[in-house]
This record gives sequence, structure tokens and C-alpha cells, in this order.
Amino acid sequence: MTPDYGDPPRACARCLYTTWHPLGLVLDSDGVCSGCRVHEEKQTLDWNERRKQLESLIEPYRRQGGDNYDCIVPVTGARDSFFIVHTVKTLGLNPLLVTYNKLYNTEVGVRNLARLRTMFDSDILTLTVNPDTVKKVTRAALRRLGSIYWHCLAGQTVFPVQCAVRFEVPLVIWGAHQGLEQVGMFSHAHTVEMTRRYRKDHDLMGLEAEDIVGEFDHIDGGEVLPFAYPSYQELGRIGVRGIYLGNFMPWDSKRQHEEMIAQYSYESAGQTRTFDLYNDVDCFNYSDVHDYLKFVKHGYGKATDHAVRELRWGRVTREEAAETARAYQSIAPKQLDLFLEWIGMTPRAFQWVVDQHRNPCLWERDCKWQWNLKWDLLSLPVEAIQRENARLASAGDMRFQLTPSKRPEYMDDRYICIGKGTPCR
Ligand SMILES: [Zn+2]
Repeated sequence: MTPDYGDPPRACARCLYTTWHPLGLVLDSDGVCSGCRVHEEKQTLDWNERRKQLESLIEPYRRQGGDNYDCIVPVTGARDSFFIVHTVKTLGLNPLLVTYNKLYNTEVGVRNLARLRTMFDSDILTLTVNPDTVKKVTRAALRRLGSIYWHCLAGQTVFPVQCAVRFEVPLVIWGAHQGLEQVGMFSHAHTVEMTRRYRKDHDLMGLEAEDIVGEFDHIDGGEVLPFAYPSYQELGRIGVRGIYLGNFMPWDSKRQHEEMIAQYSYESAGQTRTFDLYNDVDCFNYSDVHDYLKFVKHGYGKATDHAVRELRWGRVTREEAAETARAYQSIAPKQLDLFLEWIGMTPRAFQWVVDQHRNPCLWERDCKWQWNLKWDLLSLPVEAIQRENARLASAGDMRFQLTPSKRPEYMDDRYICIGKGTPCR
């Protein structure tokens, strides 16, 4: 369900999400959103029982003779990857780790990924798409969708599926499902699995690889093959299936990362536009230029997502969460020059494209030609009685640990491991 911009936005009485959330959510008669209701399941489900369900689900996929991998596990140098591999190894599986090279790599992310494959003694397969192709695809996605991240999302959601087909390893194991975690599009009881349709509609914003082919951007069919989903025949022949660990354990990204810091020395890092120092430390752009574009298109930033997550776990009050999210969402990106140099674009051209993607229901220009929000999504009115009835006890700790850099003398100011592309200047 996509948001109806014809109706004014209404806020959840508990968290900071609104009925204009791009994934779509609904409010119940108490004014509480579907995402908050699904989160409540984390307190009530029998997780021992769910764990047993997971164990019996994976059993047929174990290769008794050791002649192949048991499963494919998509990883990066951040984002719960350590926890996912740790869990998969605890289940006694032999995974093939696969990673799509986003190119916007930080050195912290490269170090984390190197540490991951060493600590877990696992094979890893990396896809680095021709950087010239990635630049063309990124220019096209920026023009058409206002996204610099389409190639990352397309690559990291399809490379594991391609590997499942190519190496005949049918089971793909992912971490959390965004539709379940954020907006309650699914309940844990649905045990939602990977689908091509969800990937197209939400991860890829409706634009499949073949849709990006065209003369305007000089992209031919062969160039988008690394981003193309395998055919239904190929998927059916291997019996490819993608499951999410978040259906079988009460997913708590902060707690999980802290366990990984203690156990495997996972490295955290400061972020431009969020207080979460764990999730996207591998990328220059995610919590920077990419998040700024999210703010332009949807009227809120990633800090809201992170604050909502912490609020639902009772580590922060609604008011503190709103204050924190507001402080981060107006911070200007710091890595824009680096991105513009990489893609070969002027700041003015970039701003022109960005303005084409401003949601007109959210933004208006004043007499000085400045953009202003028509709706402050963090301070929509909520009936006091509903807000107090929905309020959660907050007794936790929302502080994130900044681990010491393993290479403090190094100036991390260049994309790392990007392959050989044509210089833009
Ligand atoms: Zn809510």
C-alpha cells in the first residue's frame, strides 16, 4: 500500500512514522501504526518455537556429503553481516558468502569485510561490475528516480540469487525484512520470503534492470545483465528460496551489533546524518548523499528510521526520538564533492536533478526561491490521550559505541576497491 498524498499525513500515536511512509502503513483505532503492532510480537512470540521452525526449515538444505555449500549468505562490511554469518555458523551450516561491491566503500567497511571472512573461515565471492557501467546506470537512476543507490540495491539483492542459480545452492539466508521491521507490511507469522516482486516494487522503486536500458543514457542490454533477475525457469530448476532470520528471532540491530563488537571486534564509525554508528559504516554515501535524497523525496531521513527502532525497543522516549531525528535530518551531506567527482557532474546539475524529485506535496518555494517543508512530519498533532495510552516505558540506553579505529593515522577520503574505471577528469 503506497501513501495517499491526497489525504493530509497522520502520525502514529507511538512512533514517528506517518501515513505518508513510502512503504505504506495503517493506523488502528488506537492511533498506533502497523509497524508498532508487529514490533509488539517480539515481546509475545515463543522464540524457542520459532528457532525450532528455522532448524527444521534448513535441514533439507544441508549437503551431507560436503560436496557443495549449504546456503548463500549476502554480506557487506556492515549491516548485521557479522550477526547473520555468526547465526548461520551456529546452525552448523557451511555458507558461501557473497558481496556486491557498491564502489562507495570506506576503509572501515573493507576492513570489516576482511575480518568477517577471516573470523568465520568462509569463502567469499565478490561482484565488481565495470565501474563505467555503474556510472552510466547511476546517472540514469539519478535522473529517473532521484537515487544514487539504485545500483547498490539492485546488485546486492540480485547477486546472491544469481549465485544460488549458478552454483546450484538453493537456500539464500538474509537478515531482516524491511517491510516487516519498519511498517508491519507482514507479521512474523507470515514468515515472509524473498520475492522478485517486493524487490522490484520497493528495493528498486519500480525500475527493473531491463527498464534502465535506453539510448538516452547509452545503456545496452548486455550492460545491465549483472543487475538482472534470473528467469523463473532457472529459479524453478534449482528451487531457489530466500528466507529472513528476522522471522525466527526478535531482531534487534543495536544489541546484535554490540554482541559482534564484543565477540569479533566489529568496527563502528561516525555517520553524517544519523546517530546509528553501526549499520552503514561501509559506505561513504548511505548516511550522507543517499540519505539527503531520501529527505528530499520523503520528507524525513534515516535518523527517523533509527529513532523509531530505538523508541520501539524502549531505549528513548517519543519526544527524545523526534528531537534527535530532527537534529540529523537537516545536516548537509559531507561527501557530495566526492560523489560528484566520481560521477562527473557539477553541483548545479546535481541540484537541478534533485529538485526534479522533490515531492510537491511536501515542499514549496518561498519568495527568496528557498525550499521549505509544507509538513513537518516529526511534529504532526496526535491526540494527547492516544499518545499517552500508546506510550512505551523507556528505560534503555540509546548510546552507540564508537570503536577505536584500527588504522587511526589513515585519512579515509577516497572510495576504496572500486576497480578500474575511466577517470571523469
Ligand atoms: Zn508506530
